[in-house]
Amino acid sequence: ITFASLGLAEPLLRAVGDAGYDHPTPIQAQAIPRVLEGGDLLAAAQTGTGKTAGFTLPILHYLLGHPATDRRPGRPRVLVLTPTRELTAQVEESVRLYGKYTSVRSMVMFGGVNINPQIAALKKPLDILVATPGRLLDHAQQKTLDLSGVEILVLDEADRMLDMGFIHDIRRVLKLLPAKRQNLLFSATFSDEIRGLAQGILSNPVEVSV
Ligand code: AMP
Repeated sequence: ITFASLGLAEPLLRAVGDAGYDHPTPIQAQAIPRVLEGGDLLAAAQTGTGKTAGFTLPILHYLLGHPATDRRPGRPRVLVLTPTRELTAQVEESVRLYGKYTSVRSMVMFGGVNINPQIAALKKPLDILVATPGRLLDHAQQKTLDLSGVEILVLDEADRMLDMGFIHDIRRVLKLLPAKRQNLLFSATFSDEIRGLAQGILSNPVEVSV
C-alpha cells in the first residue's frame, strides 16, 4: 500500500515524499480511507504510530477538494482539540509540513500566555485551529472565535484530556459546534470513560486499533 493508492491529492503526496515517508503506517492505512469517506472514527493509537498524519493528511485533502466559499477570520472549518500546549504545537507543525504545498491556514491556541496576540492572529483567515479546551472557550466567550463553521472535529489524545479534567470544557465546546460535522477521536487506550465520551460524540464510528 502506498500514499498514492489512498487517493491523496498531489500536493500532499509531494509533501509526504519530501518528508521521506515510503509507506503509510498501519494507523494511517486504516484511518485515512475512513476520514476521506467522511465518516466518524474512533482510533486507538499511541504517539509514535503516525496518528497525526493519519488525520492531518485526509483533512488537508478534504479542504483542498472543498475550498471555502467564504473563508472568514476567526472562523475555522476544522477544530483539533489536544490536552497540552506541546501537543498543539506538534499537531500544527504537522499541518504545516503536510500542507506546505497548499494554501491551508492553521493556528495554535493554548492558555498560560497573553491572549492578545491570539486575538490579533484570529483576525486573519483560518482553516484549521489546533487548541487546548480552556483557552478556546475564553475566545468563544469573548466572541473573538466563531465555531459555527466547524465541519470536522478531532479529539487528539482524548484519554489524556480526560485525565487532565477537561471533560466539562469538552462538553461546553461541543455545544458551540454545528450538529452536522465529522468527528475523529484518537486515544492511546479505550477505557469505559473514553467509550462513554465517544458514544456521545461519534455517530456510526469505524473503530481502528494499532
Ligand atoms: P505521531 O505518532 O503522529 O506523533 O508520529 C510519529 C513520527 O512518525 C513523526 O515524527 C512522523 O514524522 C513520523 N511518521 C509519520 N508517518 C510516517 C510514515 N508513513 N513513515 C515514516 N515516518 C512517519
